[in-house]
Amino acid sequence: MKFVCDAMLGKLARYLRMLGIDAPYIHNIEHLKSCKNEPEKPIFLTRRLIGSVPYDICFSIKSEHVEEQLREIRDLIKPFIHEDMLMSRCIRCNMPLDDVKKIEIEQFVPEHIFHNYDKFKACPSCKKVYWKGSHTEHMMGWIEKLLADN
Ligand SMILES: [Zn+2]
Repeated sequence: MKFVCDAMLGKLARYLRMLGIDAPYIHNIEHLKSCKNEPEKPIFLTRRLIGSVPYDICFSIKSEHVEEQLREIRDLIKPFIHEDMLMSRCIRCNMPLDDVKKIEIEQFVPEHIFHNYDKFKACPSCKKVYWKGSHTEHMMGWIEKLLADN
């Protein structure tokens, strides 16, 4: 399931990407028109009045704060969060990450990271390098807490 984020929800989009969720974000709601043709229509997350949006699968976000926003959509995103999907998507560009050989990224990560980690992934678009530990451990604790909270 894809969650398209409105321009006002850039931070939320980055959090969803950390969770491995496909979360593009759009500057112009006219772009939603192309969503109508997708085989599985994405859900549009927005802080706009739903009536003003030219798309029928919307979820209205009330809070301005990302943690509250995540709590608002918790039940919606819960089925799409899987531990093995963490660190599978670029936080900057929403692109699925590629596995890369350690030797290929030596010049792109700090020396202590290179020596302490063996598995790396990289974004095919912006080339940002990710490794387990870059946000996975922190995220896991955080996600468990989010999913357990009422
Ligand atoms: Zn990227």
